[in-house]
Amino acid sequence: MELTFKPYRIECSHPFGLSRSTHDFYDIIYIYLEREGNIGRGEAAPSNHYGESFESCLRVLETIPSSMVDFEHFQDFKSHVEPLTSGIKSLNAALSMAFFDLKGKQDKKSIYDKYGYSGNVTCPTSFTIALGDLQNISEKIDEAESYSILKIKLGSDSDRDIINEIRKLTDKTIRVDANEGWTLEQAKDMCSWLASKNVELIEQPLKADQLHLMKELKNESPLPLIADENCIDLSDIPKLVDSFHGINIKLMKCGWCDEVPKMIRLAKKFELKVMLGCMVESSVGITAMGQFASEADYLDLDGNLLIKNDPYLGIQINGGVPLLPIGSGLGLSLNMRGESAGLK
Ligand SMILES: [Mg+2]
Repeated sequence: MELTFKPYRIECSHPFGLSRSTHDFYDIIYIYLEREGNIGRGEAAPSNHYGESFESCLRVLETIPSSMVDFEHFQDFKSHVEPLTSGIKSLNAALSMAFFDLKGKQDKKSIYDKYGYSGNVTCPTSFTIALGDLQNISEKIDEAESYSILKIKLGSDSDRDIINEIRKLTDKTIRVDANEGWTLEQAKDMCSWLASKNVELIEQPLKADQLHLMKELKNESPLPLIADENCIDLSDIPKLVDSFHGINIKLMKCGWCDEVPKMIRLAKKFELKVMLGCMVESSVGITAMGQFASEADYLDLDGNLLIKNDPYLGIQINGGVPLLPIGSGLGLSLNMRGESAGLK
């Protein structure tokens, strides 16, 4: 099989503001594995927050020989590429997506089928409203009309103003993501206050290195608490049981696609709720995570909905619920924008 890759800049529809940063665009890399006329696609959306960068992904990719043995089994492919990727999780995610997409096409099977999942997604996805000017909130609420759940980024100086402003405009269910933006005292205060505002859950209230304080917050919070920055991969899950009610799994954090079903299984064993999430990504990464969506308690698969130049067609939204494309592998196709950008 032949490995190639192509960088691409995804542009945000609105500046994407979190408690720690704001972005107008993200640089990602598409990875392609080709064999006998079939193509497998993957996407690396590296996150600076987890010590990864677009530049380091490119540097590593340039050292991987493009011509590879035609691996039949994922474990053999993984053993071959794992020593070559310097532990970059987004790269591992992209390589594994491309492998499963290619294999699925060769075997004429979808990826969810391979894992024994139904592919019938019933959970609606939330739609994110990032931090930004309060004046733009009504425009963003209008844009989110077809979504039944809003995910609101907080962790700013005007958190209550943001929620009060949104509540003047809509009574839709809200999920709050503080992205580590609160102290323990602020978090206690906000958890109680938000519980009276039709808020369903709170993601990552405290800094990831303050896990020792989370147990106290969990004991007091009337709302479920979901670990994001505290939950990178499978090895984190046992440490979170006393401190959170659930975990947010993302391919770009955990790396290999086959880590996702393992994390889902372990979380359920510990009676933790499962959210499947994403970075700001295009339809390639979102459709890959969508393969596992039938198993989730909460979906936050909106990365591709927050950008204005997605070059692929994959998962579609039907009544706020992600609908997987028909077709083997990931079922992706290139759109006109992708074709003119010279993507595969
Ligand atoms: Mg989060």
